[in-house]
Amino acid sequence: MTTTSAFRIPVANLLRRPGASRAIQAEGVLADVRGPGAEVTADRPIAVDLTLERVSEGMVVRGTITAPWDAACSRCLAPVGGELAVQVGELYERQPLEGETYLLSEDDVVDLEPLIRDALLLELPAVPLCRPECRGLCATCGVDHNLTSCECDTAIPDPRWAALRALDL
Ligand SMILES: [Zn+2]
Ligand SMILES: [Zn+2]
Repeated sequence: MTTTSAFRIPVANLLRRPGASRAIQAEGVLADVRGPGAEVTADRPIAVDLTLERVSEGMVVRGTITAPWDAACSRCLAPVGGELAVQVGELYERQPLEGETYLLSEDDVVDLEPLIRDALLLELPAVPLCRPECRGLCATCGVDHNLTSCECDTAIPDPRWAALRALDL
């Protein structure tokens, strides 16, 4: 897995000074940050504005991650987009707990990529809509009900089926 170097923060100096902290502002691009309904825009930077603080267990990373996202409206497929701003507060330690804390590597690097991925994936909209009242596409003929109506809703049956039904009677 490749990692944008902007998100790999060397912290050897901080680790030597208990209680010390350092502000980090960085921008970088991460590939394939994609949820079921939307994805982080591939070619625009993710920005982090964080504070790293030396604590007895390791390093606490706190602050904000911002990223633009793209999607297709879940109802009409029109392009939709927005920007996420996610607050994080996570612990990096030498022996991380699966799913709870992050790895502070032996070479004293805080790799922000897994934290950024996790935080953004949680916040990406699962069912994005171009607008709350979007009327979507007709499931039968595919017309955009935001633009026009169709006859499908009234369900005119195929005349051959109508003939069979008549026989049943
Ligand atoms: Zn829509
Ligand atoms: Zn229709």
